[in-house]
Amino acid sequence: MSNHLFDALTAFIPEPGKVFLETPEGSKLTYRDVLARSAQYAGALQKLGVKPGDRVAVQVEKTPDALMVYLGTIRAGAVFLPLNTAYTPAEVAYFVGDAEPAVFVCDPQKADALAGTAQKEGARLQTLNARGEGTLRDLADTMPEDFTTVAREDEDLAAILYTSGTTGRSKGAMLSHGNLASNSQTMVKVWRFTEDDVLLHALPIFHTHGLFVATNCLMMAGGSMLFLPKFDLDQVLALLPRATAMMGVPTFYTRLLASEAFTKDLVGHFRLFISGSAPLSAEVHRAFLDRTGHAILERYGMTETNMNTSNPYDGDRRPGTVGFPLPGVGLRIADPKTGREVSPGEVGIIEIKGPNVFQGYWRMPEKTSQEFRVDGYFITGDMGRIDEDGYVSIVGRSKDLIISGGFNVYPAEVEALLDELPGVAESAVIGVPHPDFGEAVVAVLAAKPDSVLDEDTVLAPIRDRLAKFKQPKKVHVLEALPRNTMGKIQKNVLRDQFKGDFS
Ligand code: AMP
Repeated sequence: MSNHLFDALTAFIPEPGKVFLETPEGSKLTYRDVLARSAQYAGALQKLGVKPGDRVAVQVEKTPDALMVYLGTIRAGAVFLPLNTAYTPAEVAYFVGDAEPAVFVCDPQKADALAGTAQKEGARLQTLNARGEGTLRDLADTMPEDFTTVAREDEDLAAILYTSGTTGRSKGAMLSHGNLASNSQTMVKVWRFTEDDVLLHALPIFHTHGLFVATNCLMMAGGSMLFLPKFDLDQVLALLPRATAMMGVPTFYTRLLASEAFTKDLVGHFRLFISGSAPLSAEVHRAFLDRTGHAILERYGMTETNMNTSNPYDGDRRPGTVGFPLPGVGLRIADPKTGREVSPGEVGIIEIKGPNVFQGYWRMPEKTSQEFRVDGYFITGDMGRIDEDGYVSIVGRSKDLIISGGFNVYPAEVEALLDELPGVAESAVIGVPHPDFGEAVVAVLAAKPDSVLDEDTVLAPIRDRLAKFKQPKKVHVLEALPRNTMGKIQKNVLRDQFKGDFS
């Protein structure tokens, strides 16, 4: 029977005994084990009453078993709903109430706090801990190692991923089997993944990057993964010699560069370093190239659309850009107000259409229709431009755009200059309320170790490089910038912290 996503993931298995995944402790899952374990989890979910189309929500640590629950859910014809492990029980209560899963899997330590929520919403509560043990595993262990995978078509839902939602309520992005399978097939091709690849996997698996981009790609290619619970510098340094590729958020690369143990010799054999989920500064790109000889390949995607653009595998990987639209993905830059395409080179909102674009927000038809144009393009909320060679660059989220004295200031432009200054480790440019200008440009910086930054030394070198209205009216220096688990700087936190600067 055909199950669109599972069939695509398992279409190429080099040989059943090949290792698909290995943990730093040396425990291994072969492709044969993957088929058997995912069958057992699919059987366990069915036994718990999960029917096709039902949601299976999980808030569990990253373990091989958690990944097998994902595959088991797909095989049972259900919809996988991973939740960030940092969410508090109160936050989880919202997601479980909104998604009404048939089964909710959590860490045994949180089971007491979450039992009431599960019961209220009619979800069967199951557990799985950081060692992959718990009631769901116990049940799976009693199930047969084969399972008749439930038929699903490409338009059927495979997953709901809640967006990080820095403003307003989090929205559940509905992703179909076709969305996920088609995008991963494209990535395998453009990034040239093969069965010879060993991916160093240090990303969380509650997010699209670690779950779909990394895992689906490697499984489709018949490759292997070194599966780390999280990014641990020493562990990563120890395992790099065994890997051929790594997918990371920019902070992985800055952390590697900060270590003297990260040398060219360690990664001379490497095939590919990929970065995404947040902007990789041109500085870090160059420093990485200098240190290792590898140009990091930066790509751009989001929960709702999977991957949209990528720098080329062959050819110039340009720092500060996210490359070209992927094959089959339509990308245009539009005027946010009129929706009309802007002239070449101008900044506007990035809009996307293609088989990768999600099916809408779960139970939010109005929100969904507001974010699509009538011709089917999804309005991403990212501002960007396309240069004369066709490279796309992102200048910031539209909600981060600063309007000062009636002029638009794109944070990325100012941040790029600040990042070049010798003592600056990282920067965030935000708009805060100002009595005359409406909003004022404010720079928040973190200094490099042993460097001291003050407003004058920061502003002097950029004065004649930036129009006056773009120059920061105030500079704050913090120990480190606040980031979420995917390495994105939380500008909403900074705007809140500095909202009183001019009042
Ligand atoms: P998420 O849905 O959590 O994956 O976040 C998606 C958002 O991350 C996008 O809409 C962009 O704002 C941002 N993003 C992803 N990749 C990049 C990138 N390479 N450069 C800049 N921003 C990025």
